[in-house]
Amino acid sequence: MLAVDQEKASAAELLEWAIREFGDSLAISTSFQSEGMVILDMAARISPGVHVFTLDTGRLPEETYRMMETVRERYGIRVETVSPDPAEVEGMIALHGPNLFYREVPLRMLCCQIRKVRPLERKLAGFKAWVVGLRRDQNESRADVRKVEQSEGRLKLSPLADWTAEQVQQYIRANNVPQHPLYAAGYKSIGCEPCTRAVSAGEDERAGRWWWELDADKECGIHFSPEGKAERKLDVLLSEILEARRA
Ligand code: SF4
Repeated sequence: MLAVDQEKASAAELLEWAIREFGDSLAISTSFQSEGMVILDMAARISPGVHVFTLDTGRLPEETYRMMETVRERYGIRVETVSPDPAEVEGMIALHGPNLFYREVPLRMLCCQIRKVRPLERKLAGFKAWVVGLRRDQNESRADVRKVEQSEGRLKLSPLADWTAEQVQQYIRANNVPQHPLYAAGYKSIGCEPCTRAVSAGEDERAGRWWWELDADKECGIHFSPEGKAERKLDVLLSEILEARRA
């Protein structure tokens, strides 16, 4: 496929191309939300042996672990769990407590760095291409997502970038794709248990993520890096943990 075609390709075409082009050097990451399940369903039809992993932050809701079991049973895909460095988690909790994220945005970002971003970076070091479930209309910060882009030295693919929430639901209904149980409880976006809640009808899709933060982006740092003051404070907080670990 020529580079110019990638933005026009359908989700299935793009996935098929990526699986063929990169083989074992391609990884799909999922948190078992609707978009991730659509991608898993498509990928399982193309190549059931495709490499799939999920970030197990240690703070996931029980329902997410049930989804891991569901995926194994339905698709026969072995989902690899990627965990944070226990020493970094211990250091963070020793300095700031287990529920640091409720106190201020940089502390929440620190927790996301240690439990999500750093484990992801370690995991992706072995791959040339990475597939994610981002959609442009999920929120403002995702409006410019491209289907294929270079990110941190590898190709990042968002096959559903131009899909709407309704298209995702149509695919799920048409293909009887398993759904995360928390959607039935009013959740629209699902992450760690202490940082996610159900939302009311009409609220933004990601309004239930870090709902106590009124001015921050609803992002964990995996797809979009923090900027400005929050980034500088996060750097300081992270250095403290890493230095304490080295001491
Ligand atoms: Fe920590 Fe919450 Fe981020 Fe999960 S979502 S890593 S618990 S701050």
